[in-house]
Amino acid sequence: MIEIRIDKDVCMGSGNCVFWAPESFELADDGHAEVLDARATAEERLKVAAEGCPTGAISLWSDGERVDRGEP
Ligand code: SF4
Repeated sequence: MIEIRIDKDVCMGSGNCVFWAPESFELADDGHAEVLDARATAEERLKVAAEGCPTGAISLWSDGERVDRGEP
């Protein structure tokens, strides 16, 4: 099962992830993105969202391995 991690120290609140996958991300009141439900969006689209993050705050994991870019 895919897991989304957001580095809140890196997230700058651009909202790109919410644009690409609104079922899986939301912008919280603190201005940072939060994960809603990783399973609500197809994995390929989650990868687009991760790659579209301007600060690289999003990573995707499966069974303890990072899957959005190959290497951690
Ligand atoms: S795309 Fe990246 S920087 Fe923008 S809100 Fe989402 S996690 Fe934060």
